[in-house]
Amino acid sequence: MNGHCPAGIMERLKSGTVLGAEGYVFELERRGYIKAGPYVPEVVLDFPDAVRELHREFLRAGSDVMVALTDYAHREKLRHVGREGDLEAMNRRAVQIAREVAQEGDALVAGNVCNTWAYDPDDPSAREAVRAMYAEQLGWAAEEGIDFVISETNDYLGEALIALEVIQGLGLPAMVTLAPTQPGQTRDGYGYAEACRILAAEGAQVVGLNCDRGPQTMMPLMARIRETVDCAVAAQPVPYRTDAAAPTMETLRSEGAQRAFPLALEPFGCTRFEMAQFALLARDLGVDYVGICCGAGPHHVRAMAEALGREVPASKYSPSMDLHPMFRADVSAKDAVFLDTWNA
Ligand SMILES: [Zn+2]
Repeated sequence: MNGHCPAGIMERLKSGTVLGAEGYVFELERRGYIKAGPYVPEVVLDFPDAVRELHREFLRAGSDVMVALTDYAHREKLRHVGREGDLEAMNRRAVQIAREVAQEGDALVAGNVCNTWAYDPDDPSAREAVRAMYAEQLGWAAEEGIDFVISETNDYLGEALIALEVIQGLGLPAMVTLAPTQPGQTRDGYGYAEACRILAAEGAQVVGLNCDRGPQTMMPLMARIRETVDCAVAAQPVPYRTDAAAPTMETLRSEGAQRAFPLALEPFGCTRFEMAQFALLARDLGVDYVGICCGAGPHHVRAMAEALGREVPASKYSPSMDLHPMFRADVSAKDAVFLDTWNA
């Protein structure tokens, strides 16, 4: 299409680590283009330049995949915010924007669906409603031209399996990742590794986890998943310092025991160095698709890319602290006398 024919996702996974970057919704909310609460990506139609710019920042930082911003752009969510009439345009435009930017580099375009909040394992009509929403979203995405599909943030294995069936019906590779919000299992009661085993057995090309957990609490689950499946695995944690006491970003508490999620997570943010370390640990564990989710900034992604041994367009501006006036080896005499106060 348009003379743009990069190596496909399966080929790239075979030849090395694929670097992903997400967190578009959190970042665009911070920038004032998405309303927290409903988190519907109205920005795609209202401020397309803002979406294009963030894609470009992640591309320059080294992301191999431009993920179309169709997260929560499904019929039920758009109905809630009174924009059901914009459903098709929003989905098509999101893929078009991702494609435009992908072609500025060598990136793939992923269609995207996520948890719908409409799924109910005990309600067959809810399952069919979810299937219909995925089918229309991904049908439009496939028509606009995508290389593969990421179904993500699924709380229920049952909902993820519906997405997988829809993706397979379109003949596209499927990456299906679960949201590890619960201590050990999906909302419908499958251990995360067992759920991934089932998804792989049903034909998902890539399985794993995304969102909710930071690197420290996602990695032990990833180790179990890596031991359990033979297919490619993906890990896209949030860049927050979750730990044994607060294993997910939803459970992090600020001073005074206030919930930090989702609008006051900054004090828990991982540095670029912590995310670079995660990228190396994940690669060494055998994670094939290493990425980042809600909270991500381009500085995290560039540090992850460079940790994986890459030089990326944004590396032109990577830190050179040896050129900092106070940190340089030949710090001037007039400044050196003040270094003591910096070292105090
Ligand atoms: Zn996320």
